[in-house]
Amino acid sequence: MYTLGIDIGSTTSKCALVEDGKKLAALSLVRAGIGTRGYDPALKEAFDKSGIEPSAIAATAVTGYGRLTYEAADFTASELTCHALGARLIFPGVRTVIDIGGQDAKVIQLGEDGKMLGFVMNDKCAAGTGRFLDVMANVLNIPVDQLENEAAASAEPAKISSTCTVFAESEVISRLSMGAGVPEVVAGICESVASRVAGLAKRMAIQDDVCMSGGVARNGAVRKALSEALGHGILYSENAQLFGAIGAAIYAYNKTEHEI
Ligand code: ADP
Repeated sequence: MYTLGIDIGSTTSKCALVEDGKKLAALSLVRAGIGTRGYDPALKEAFDKSGIEPSAIAATAVTGYGRLTYEAADFTASELTCHALGARLIFPGVRTVIDIGGQDAKVIQLGEDGKMLGFVMNDKCAAGTGRFLDVMANVLNIPVDQLENEAAASAEPAKISSTCTVFAESEVISRLSMGAGVPEVVAGICESVASRVAGLAKRMAIQDDVCMSGGVARNGAVRKALSEALGHGILYSENAQLFGAIGAAIYAYNKTEHEI
């Protein structure tokens, strides 16, 4: 049985086609989020890649900040549920999921059986989210996917101490004008996100295994700084940004499976 998961986020739309709730059949990601119908090209890409016909889909679930903008789904599911389900498929022993997306960050605690025990979330402030990295990448005129390479060339991160994104933007410009190198400033920016999220995560008991989900997981400098700040290794999959969509497809499978 094939099910479809759609994750409509603030910056990207993601789709996952999953067979029997456990085998990935196709994944797609389009850089167009809520308000753009980015899910249309994402759906087309997933179906084209897999050769699966839309009529073969037993059920569809939609998640993400923009989930209410897609009306054709059988189910809507919370982001917490979907990121947890997606993470557990890829890392079955995971107990802590740290999801950093384009506009919020969440830390989800799971029991041994994968049941959600609790969560903490920052959706009030851009610092500690992908938005902070996007703003800074724009100021520095560096593509967001190049931040990790830039940071890797740094000798010592230039500490960014402003907790507000607007002030941090001025601080970055001032650091550069005082002679700090771009790699050092980028490393400081990545550390700032990691330290914010570590502060959030430490409000809960962090249990191994720990993994990241969401687009910011793709930034190796944030992963490394977060792992150091938490004192825990962090599991990483190149599909981390798709965990929400994968989880939505699993959610649709679980719902349909129990109803048959
Ligand atoms: P949303 O679902 O809200 O769109 P995502 O989980 O897709 O959020 O994460 C988006 C964030 O991920 C962006 O704000 C950006 O900072 C970061 N990001 C996206 N692609 C990359 C990449 N290739 N390398 C590093 N960071 C990335």
